[in-house]
Amino acid sequence: MRVLIVEDEPDLLASLLQSVREDGYAADGAEDGAEGLYKAESYDYDAIVLDVMLPEIDGWEVLRKLRKSKKTPVLMLTARDGVRDRVKGLDTGADDYVVKPFDTEEVLARLRALIRRSATQAVPRLEIGEVAVDMAARTVTRAGIPVILTAREYALLEYLGLHRGKLVTRTMLYEHLFDENDNTLSNLLDVHVSNLRYDLSLHSLAAAGVAWPNSGRRPHRLWRNRLPGCARQSIASH
Ligand code: CA
Repeated sequence: MRVLIVEDEPDLLASLLQSVREDGYAADGAEDGAEGLYKAESYDYDAIVLDVMLPEIDGWEVLRKLRKSKKTPVLMLTARDGVRDRVKGLDTGADDYVVKPFDTEEVLARLRALIRRSATQAVPRLEIGEVAVDMAARTVTRAGIPVILTAREYALLEYLGLHRGKLVTRTMLYEHLFDENDNTLSNLLDVHVSNLRYDLSLHSLAAAGVAWPNSGRRPHRLWRNRLPGCARQSIASH
């Protein structure tokens, strides 16, 4: 999932971008309304966080113009807790809003809900065979056994799960999983797909009580430096 954050306060923008990325999303930023509108119209974001008070073009105007061509879910950041602001936001086509100053966790929770709603997934849980994805907790199990994924792998699995039965092209994956600053190493899609398959099958083996094949070669994932000990531990405990 890829989101756009339009916010002119540099510190706030940076902290929102960081939080959203830590939550597993690809995220682009824009520092004024004109840049925000340009990006919002140019890319198919899964959601947009849009500040109301912006230089160049204010948030309402960005939203009004965007709604002429796109239905991208929009979460407004409003500085005032006025009823008129809320009504205006909903009338203009905002999908939700958060009043400043806000708790970042609340913004993240509302973003997740917006993205789920737009994918018409009311229940925050996906079941794909014996793989279950809890989109509220962002956890994955296979046959009831926890599967530890990186944020990027989780995003890939969630995107594929939400588009089950539909054609998902490589271009769609690139557009929704990577942001404009991703370098060539982090967007090696085949590597992420292969790692995801590996993680899911690894746990399937563990679930069945199958030990490591004694080939003398250890699976490369055990050397990956993400959550030290997790992969090994989950194998050992089953
Ligand atoms: Ca502002």
